[in-house]
Amino acid sequence: MADVILKNVQKSFGRAKVIHGVDLDIRDGEFVVFVGPSGCGKSTLLRLIAGLEDITGGDLFIGGERVNDLAPAKRGIAMVFQSYALYPHMNVYDNMAFGLELAKSSKADIDAKVREAARLLQIEPLLERKPRQLSGGQRQRVAIGRAIVRDPKVFLFDEPLSNLDAALRVQTRIEIAKLHTDTRATMIYVTHDQVEAMTLADRIVVLHAGRIEQVGTPLELYHRPANLFVAGFIGSPQ
Ligand code: ADP
Ligand code: MG
Repeated sequence: MADVILKNVQKSFGRAKVIHGVDLDIRDGEFVVFVGPSGCGKSTLLRLIAGLEDITGGDLFIGGERVNDLAPAKRGIAMVFQSYALYPHMNVYDNMAFGLELAKSSKADIDAKVREAARLLQIEPLLERKPRQLSGGQRQRVAIGRAIVRDPKVFLFDEPLSNLDAALRVQTRIEIAKLHTDTRATMIYVTHDQVEAMTLADRIVVLHAGRIEQVGTPLELYHRPANLFVAGFIGSPQ
C-alpha cells in the first residue's frame, strides 16, 4: 500500500510562504498530475513528498506511515527530474546501478534489475555509454530506468518531458503510461502542459500560488471547471 496523504502541508522559505496548506489524498496506484503556472509550487510540493525539502507545517503520510522526518531513501519513492541528473563520469549501467549499490543489494540482483529495466526501456545497446554520448531522449530513459530499478512504491516525475522534442515527448509519455500499467505504482507527475495532464492523469490537481484550486478527473475539470482560473488552464472554452 502506498497511498500518499497530505494534511495541511505547508512550506516556507524564510519568510516567504510558498505552499499554503495543501490537503490531498492520493490512492495507492493512482496517477495524479499536478498542473499550474510557473512558480505556483508544483516542484516544491513534489520535493516535499520526496523529502528533498523539509515540511514546515502539516503532515505527510506515505503507505500509512508519517514521513515528515523520514530520510528520502527510506520513503519508498523514486524521482525523475527534468534535467535527468545523471552522473557524467559513470556509464549508463553504473548510473542505473548506483542507488542499488548504496542500498547494498547483491551484484546478481543489481545486474538482473538493471538489465530488466534496460530491456523495458529499449536501452540495452547503450549500457556502456557515458551520458554525453546519449541524446536527450536516451538520457531521460536512463533517468527513468534508474527510478525503475529501485522498484519504488511511488514514482515522482518533475516535468520529465520538457527537454525533449515533440515526437520524443509523445513517445516517452506513452512509455510512462505503460510503466504505470505494468507496475501499478502510485505516480505523481508535474507538468505545465495540459495535453500531458489530460492524457496521463486519473486525477488532475490544479495549483495556483501555493494552493489547490480544484482536484478532479480530466473530464470533470474540462466540463466543470470550478472557476475561471481552472477554466483558463484546462477547462473547455466558456
Ligand atoms: P513550479 O515548480 O510550480 O514552477 P516551484 O515549486 O519551483 O514552482 O516554486 C514555487 C515558489 O517557491 C516560487 O516562488 C519559487 O521562487 C519559490 N522557491 C522554490 N524553491 C525555493 C528555494 N529553495 N528558496 C526560496 N524560494 C524558493
Ligand atoms: Mg517546477
